[in-house]
Amino acid sequence: MPAGKMQGPEDYFAVLALLTVISAFVAMGIGPRRYGGRLFFSTVLIGPLSVAVALILKGIEDYRPTPPPLPEPKPPRLLAAGRRRMVCPRCGAETDIPDVDTSFDCWRCDEHRVVKPKSAAK
Ligand SMILES: [Zn+2]
Repeated sequence: MPAGKMQGPEDYFAVLALLTVISAFVAMGIGPRRYGGRLFFSTVLIGPLSVAVALILKGIEDYRPTPPPLPEPKPPRLLAAGRRRMVCPRCGAETDIPDVDTSFDCWRCDEHRVVKPKSAAK
């Protein structure tokens, strides 16, 4: 609406409300994503200042040091010929046993398990 047509306080309120809504969306768009909702609603309290707050938050976010990259995952342990790998159902430790064995004792928790020989299992 043109400024010359402004009549009463309702018009000023309408302009203020529009400005607040626009500022809320601008602040939400500029600021870091995880602050989006809070920036949007804080505009009701601090008005267009929230755009400045969003810019400051974005600046802080951009200069935060990036965490070091995760170490490369270890390649799986090789299995010797004539052996098979059993996983203990109690503690999850891996135990390599000869193919012909019908039982094994977990090296970690001493769980005793009876297993089928490999030839019978397949
Ligand atoms: Zn175990």
